[in-house]
Amino acid sequence: MIEDMATYANVIVDISHEKLDKTFQYRIPGHLQEELSIGMQVEVPFGNGGRKSTAFVVELTDTAEYDVSKLKEIIGITETGVSIESQLIALAGWMRKNYGGTMNHALKTVLPVKQKSKERKQRLVRLVISDKKAKEQLALFEKKHSTARARLLSKLMEQNPLPYEVVTQKLNVTASVVRAMEGLGILKMEEKRAYRNPLGEMKKSGRRLVLNEEQNQAVERVWKDFSKGLRQTYLMRGVTGSGKTAVYIELIEKVVGSGRQAIVLIPEIALTYQTVVRFYQRFGERISILNSKMSQGERYDQFERAKNGDLDVMIGPRSALFTPFSNLGIIIIDEEHETSYKSETLPRYHAREAAVARGKMAGASVVLGSATPSMDSFYHAKAGDYVLLSLEKRIEEKPLPQCHTIDLRQELKRGNRSILSEKLQELMAQRLRERQQIMLFLNRRGVAGFVSCRACGHVVKCPHCDVSLSQHNNGTLVCHYCGHTQAVFRTCPACGSKYIGGFKAGTQKIEEIVKNRFPNARVLRMDLDTTRSKDGYEKILSAFANHEADILIGTQMIVKGHDFPNVTLVGILAADLSLHTQDYHGPERTFQLITQAAGRAGRGRLPGEVVIQTYSPEHYAIKLAGNQDYEQFYEEEIAYRELMHYPPCGHMMTMLVASKDQMTAFISAELVAKKISQARANGKLQGLWMIGPADAAVGKVKDIYRKVLYFKHEDYQTLVQIKDVLETFIGSHREFGNVIIQFDFDPMNGF
Ligand code: ADP
Ligand code: ZN
Ligand code: ZN
Repeated sequence: MIEDMATYANVIVDISHEKLDKTFQYRIPGHLQEELSIGMQVEVPFGNGGRKSTAFVVELTDTAEYDVSKLKEIIGITETGVSIESQLIALAGWMRKNYGGTMNHALKTVLPVKQKSKERKQRLVRLVISDKKAKEQLALFEKKHSTARARLLSKLMEQNPLPYEVVTQKLNVTASVVRAMEGLGILKMEEKRAYRNPLGEMKKSGRRLVLNEEQNQAVERVWKDFSKGLRQTYLMRGVTGSGKTAVYIELIEKVVGSGRQAIVLIPEIALTYQTVVRFYQRFGERISILNSKMSQGERYDQFERAKNGDLDVMIGPRSALFTPFSNLGIIIIDEEHETSYKSETLPRYHAREAAVARGKMAGASVVLGSATPSMDSFYHAKAGDYVLLSLEKRIEEKPLPQCHTIDLRQELKRGNRSILSEKLQELMAQRLRERQQIMLFLNRRGVAGFVSCRACGHVVKCPHCDVSLSQHNNGTLVCHYCGHTQAVFRTCPACGSKYIGGFKAGTQKIEEIVKNRFPNARVLRMDLDTTRSKDGYEKILSAFANHEADILIGTQMIVKGHDFPNVTLVGILAADLSLHTQDYHGPERTFQLITQAAGRAGRGRLPGEVVIQTYSPEHYAIKLAGNQDYEQFYEEEIAYRELMHYPPCGHMMTMLVASKDQMTAFISAELVAKKISQARANGKLQGLWMIGPADAAVGKVKDIYRKVLYFKHEDYQTLVQIKDVLETFIGSHREFGNVIIQFDFDPMNGF
């Protein structure tokens, strides 16, 4: 490695107090040059007196940033990466290397800057009567049909006290009911300092599930390896409702029992009260959660608790990966296929890859779980990099739902222009009669306006990249990868029909249509608009769970891990919306979304049915999702990726070159392209594919002009090297003075 022989080291002197971007440069003495690496703790002369101080190495370089004659020398290495800070800084170094961006960005991602949180009060509702009294009271409420009172009382008998928010939002008990019960001397309102534990006190419950054979096998496999000191990455593929969470919990309990800690990553959207409670019941006070609504200070507090040894388990979205546990034993990533694990801000890391890297550094096992693993992970599993575990059966052998695929082109031919097919309407009417619940799902992901024909299903694609073009307001069609642009069509180039255009219906429109068609049905809608308020999301879910509505209409938010036993029909209104995204993940997303959405049906006593509406019923992603045939889907999709050299069979890197000055952006991007072309003319960079420069999909943001270059190569590390070379190239050219560059590896959304 180049870094091993670097001449200078940039260090930070005090992580907890100084700003992280305050680095100091030192010369590396010859005898340390081979040994020194990022994250190590060293001794340096510091300040005016040259007092000996400890510092962490954050960067190794051959470029002196100051007058070389004034640079002091590092005295020696004090620690070689045993402290948690060292480990996290090393991880930051890994991120910086593999994804680009500055070390400062990477450090800020892994080390939260200290910030004191404001003291917050949490309101609690506490039961103040004896168990016996409570039982009598409950019987009384039930007799009088005081359902809200009964609901609150019986919950308090299970868990005492309850956070006030849980009472009003999760249990839907109003403030006046709480006051009335306080007046009766049954309960009391309390306040206490919050954010010791973000969910309030919760009792551990002795209750535990008896794992079935498949679940046990999965646990045993990981635990046996772990006990032998073997730490690997496991991919657990378990169909929806197969009990993956129970496997995680069992594994964590074993690992924690051995004195190590656990991190559980969950997509924010699935981080619901229901899920968290299952973990709390097992680990009580020794667990904490992170979520995006927390302030920096609150997050910092939780990280401090972890560092001080007050916690064994941390649950949260992507950033929970950086919890400073000093003796980490296991990292679990639930729904590992979720796109939210990829960061869209600098550094643009993928939490799955970063978890595997941290697992290696910390000596921790990594368990990835999903009903529909990402192409990437399954590819690794097939290659033997990950160990594959499978849960093939639903708990209690409940059948997977029956799927009907409806061809929307046929509906149009028959004169049905409604977004609800005849079959779906018929099944909905039947469910409403039988008082069962329905979920209607409109996939809004990636709907940047792809253009398709409603008569023949034709979709307009980029001639270079084979991804769908997006319609922009100025009447052009643009490729989000390579920037290819062309004019919009008035009629379908395939069949001449005039029914060509962008797909526009939103959830609100669908709600109207449904209410019109079924005026007596009670309808709830969940999308960005209705969940904007704090806890709006939980409110809608619990109202639906309490059967206060017959139909829930929503975006991809509703497909995540919820258990609604009374849902027996799921309608996927326009499966194509995710098929034709402006990136190569279309078929993968579509397969995942349909499978996950279908997985919501028939989780209770009654079997489920699914209606998939589409313009491309013959597409393999849709056909195979209908049959829930993951393996076959993988085979078809990997053949396509192979052909197109798309990840995981090859790798991509987009480079953004941006400037306030249009000419500078243009010239800089051209220079980069020329540099690459020259290297290729000299026989270097074999197998590299380059397109561009072109305008980025969003060509101008806040008066900054944006150009993109797009690279493809079989080998990820070659792209990393190209990134390194281009970074240095740009650093050493004056023309680039006020140019911003950014890289995105294996991009999901593009720039
Ligand atoms: P997945 O995450 O695979 O979709 P869950 O872990 O949510 O599945 O489990 C589905 C349901 O089955 C949950 O209600 C859970 O409590 C229940 N369950 C899981 N394992 C068992 C078991 N061994 N015995 C009985 N019920 C179980
Ligand atoms: Zn057509
Ligand atoms: Zn293209």
